[in-house]
Amino acid sequence: MIRPKCLPPGKKEIAYTTTGHIVPCCWVDNPVGWEEPQIKRLYQDKLKVSNNKDIESIVDSDEWNNFFEELKTNPSQTCKRFCSGPIKSSINRARENEHKPGKIKICTLYFEGKYTPDYVKKLYNGLKKHCSLPFEFICLSDNPNVKADVVIPLKYHSDIKKHWYKLCYFSPLFANQNPEDEIIIMDIDQVIVNNIDEMIGYPVGDNELVSYNKWWGGKPKLNGGFLKFKSGHLKVIWDEFITSPEDWQLNWYKTGVVHYKYYGEQNFINWMCDKHNIKLTLMPAEWVCKLTNNEDEDRENNIEYMKKFNKDYMILDKPHEDIKIVHFANPNANIHESKYSWIKDYWI
Ligand code: SF4
Repeated sequence: MIRPKCLPPGKKEIAYTTTGHIVPCCWVDNPVGWEEPQIKRLYQDKLKVSNNKDIESIVDSDEWNNFFEELKTNPSQTCKRFCSGPIKSSINRARENEHKPGKIKICTLYFEGKYTPDYVKKLYNGLKKHCSLPFEFICLSDNPNVKADVVIPLKYHSDIKKHWYKLCYFSPLFANQNPEDEIIIMDIDQVIVNNIDEMIGYPVGDNELVSYNKWWGGKPKLNGGFLKFKSGHLKVIWDEFITSPEDWQLNWYKTGVVHYKYYGEQNFINWMCDKHNIKLTLMPAEWVCKLTNNEDEDRENNIEYMKKFNKDYMILDKPHEDIKIVHFANPNANIHESKYSWIKDYWI
């Protein structure tokens, strides 16, 4: 006997998955749930949002009706686990009932490979330390042990590669977004070194994207490490990407614009801004700097920063006080192998 928190329908928010489906709640979107017959049926191609004229067509489908019927007689293990008693906050911290409209949601992505869950924790700790504005920290992750207010399980059986998953957040159906929410997508390969209120609270309007100014060269000028917009206003970026993920993910590699396979998501976003007249606003360039694990490259960036912004230095024994974020933006750079001693005081 379970007590489904999704009944009556509408009591709990439905969830949008990285595969383009909706499911009765975010708890069922996990590796165990995907293999359970009661839940697996909801992931058929014909039930994808893009294959239906509206959400009602999916929610009224036989598969959805059968799912709710089966909750009474033959619920999945996942539903038994989550809805047999009080919600365990350690299992999933989606706090829909506490949700207030107009939140700032800081959204990240983690997948096993280059980084460790420590990166998520240290970004979260940095935000807590250096941001006085209220925010909700969300991580789409294939590891449930990352530190975040909300952990959304990352589902893999799709055509989406690596960091391209973060485009999910452009869909207002993802991560329990409310219409007035301000969404910030942040990469985890960054160290926050000074107060960041001006960045997190940076004003954003309708049909506008706010990003870093990538002063250290190369196109585009925007930096995928920080993308801020109003929920739903830029949904065209997700909608267009998901029509043909493989093509978009390889487009800038095949045309020689980027030199690593599956890089180019910021090129895609920039291109979408141009195509759809999305206003692109870049925050003051001197707020951010790039570091690598290559001393020569860092020295060159230090010199360029001083010239460009008429400052004494970019980083000496610690970052310049005008810098808010240090981005390890190079594909071969990482924070945990950095030789700079100041990092241990900031990346905690
Ligand atoms: S876990 Fe299952 S029963 Fe519980 S709210 Fe989610 S879909 Fe409904």
